[in-house]
Amino acid sequence: MDKAKELQKIKEDMENDKNLPLISKPEDVIPGDGNSEAEIVFIGEAGGYHESIQRKPFVGNAGKFLDQLLRSINIPRESVYITNMVKTRPSENRDPLPEELEAYSKYLDREIEVIQPKVIVTLGRFSMGKFLPTARISGVHGKKFIVRWKDKDVAVVPMYHPAAALRNGGVMSQIKEDFLKLPGILEEVINKKEEEAKPEVEQMELV
Ligand code: URA
Repeated sequence: MDKAKELQKIKEDMENDKNLPLISKPEDVIPGDGNSEAEIVFIGEAGGYHESIQRKPFVGNAGKFLDQLLRSINIPRESVYITNMVKTRPSENRDPLPEELEAYSKYLDREIEVIQPKVIVTLGRFSMGKFLPTARISGVHGKKFIVRWKDKDVAVVPMYHPAAALRNGGVMSQIKEDFLKLPGILEEVINKKEEEAKPEVEQMELV
């Protein structure tokens, strides 16, 4: 199955999963969105009002700001994949509960396994907590961490949540600065992977 079809299957599986919290009908699901061949995956928290209407992550004010941040580094939104920890809208935009994060995690894991991104950018503390459970965002934002994930290494870059930036000028300058580092981090990760692959080729030639 190609990657786009596998992502479509994940969406359908969520829509048919009667055990998922916060869903009363299949249309309540807000699936991940974007390029199935993406090198970068962004993970937010949960949808809000606009996301629940359009059934697409990050299309409200925080999404518009995320678009602006992507434009600032010349990365088209269409080239990345954007998803959430919880793929629906908690009432009154409250924080997701631990059992909600847990219930949706298998679907997020499947998205990551299908896409195999080079870099995962976590937006806010909930998605950061999935990969770096003991980290504090104020100390780690904008830095690259190599995390062992399902038997593979993946680069994780925690960032502040764009909605937090809209509420706080200091966070806004910080997230803008952190985004500027992203192209360099991606290039570094790609070059490193190429380097790791090299010795094997040389050895094969020797045999
Ligand atoms: N905030 C999120 O974390 N996700 C969205 O999709 C929108 C706002």
